[in-house]
Amino acid sequence: MEHGIIAEIAGKYGAKILYNEKIAGHTSFNIGGVCDVVVMPSSADCIREMVSACRENGIKYYIFGRCTNVLISDSGLRGVVILIGNDYSAVKREGDCLVCESGAPLVKVCNAAKEAGLTGLEFAYGIPGSVGGALYMNAGAYGGEMKDVVSYCEYLDSDGSVKRMEAAEMCLSYRHSVFTGSDKVILSVCFRLSGGDSEAIAAKMSETMQKRRDKQPLEYPSAGSTFKRPEGYFAAKLIEDSGLKGYTRGGAQVSEKHSGFVINRGGATCKDVCDIISDIQAKVLADSGVKLECELIKVE
Ligand SMILES: Cc1cc2nc3c(=O)[nH]c(=O)nc-3n(C[C@H](O)[C@H](O)[C@H](O)COP(=O)(O)OP(=O)(O)OC[C@H]3O[C@@H](n4cnc5c(N)ncnc54)[C@H](O)[C@@H]3O)c2cc1C
Repeated sequence: MEHGIIAEIAGKYGAKILYNEKIAGHTSFNIGGVCDVVVMPSSADCIREMVSACRENGIKYYIFGRCTNVLISDSGLRGVVILIGNDYSAVKREGDCLVCESGAPLVKVCNAAKEAGLTGLEFAYGIPGSVGGALYMNAGAYGGEMKDVVSYCEYLDSDGSVKRMEAAEMCLSYRHSVFTGSDKVILSVCFRLSGGDSEAIAAKMSETMQKRRDKQPLEYPSAGSTFKRPEGYFAAKLIEDSGLKGYTRGGAQVSEKHSGFVINRGGATCKDVCDIISDIQAKVLADSGVKLECELIKVE
């Protein structure tokens, strides 16, 4: 495969480029094999040129943020993996809004909101993803979701042009947006917040983080909730009722702390996780008649 063009663009923008890179170390699950090329773009122009070059040259490419909601194949990925993260993560205040580059971690955005005395994003504190990944799937927690706070975004469209989209056009619903499954690349997101008290915001953020520490197995690598919440049920309860708490396949385990999380107990492979997911889905379907749908995204 011709990587020269990607290396050239990376060089032009000073973007990091890694060859034969094991992706596991870039994921919250610590799973995933060796990828041909991994790049970390440093600007919107860099992303645009890289994506255009891949499209024009028939090079397969993948867009990820902080890889906290993905399960990547043990054989890695062929083509170019574009990780939009720390090198493209500026956060700028404009009145009651925060305009964020899509690689900005939500934690950084929440802290910026707190420092600016802007309220609305406290619910997102502790979601380990990027702004782009969060908008892609309308991330949410503790009664809040991206839908409540997004004003507009800029994105790279299929034809290579950069466009603006208002929140009302994004079809934001439970773990879904207009970007889900599309080839649009989110470049920046504007959050519209309201004036608040920094101390009260900080207190709410700490409370949210404490709830996560108490309930979630944060001490182990995972991709967060493995399954979406089925209408009228809780995935964790169904899994527990099926006697699967602590159930293990290879290095993957249904967390003993929170049955909604499959965790990596050490050395788990993508196959272990896929196997455990299939087992859970089959048992829960047989026991409760509910079909659990994955929230994490399998990529191969
Ligand atoms: C411990 C833990 C707790 C979690 N808690 C929550 C929670 O409370 N609520 C919740 O909703 N989620 C939660 N998650 C899941 C995850 O953090 C969120 O889904 C997050 O929004 C994913 O962002 P990311 O940058 O990691 O996306 P990635 O995992 O990198 O990517 C996810 C998807 O988004 C796409 N994508 C990423 N960036 C872009 C972009 N710029 N343009 C276009 N597409 C893009 C990717 O192609 C992929 O399909 C949790 C995960 C962990 C590990």
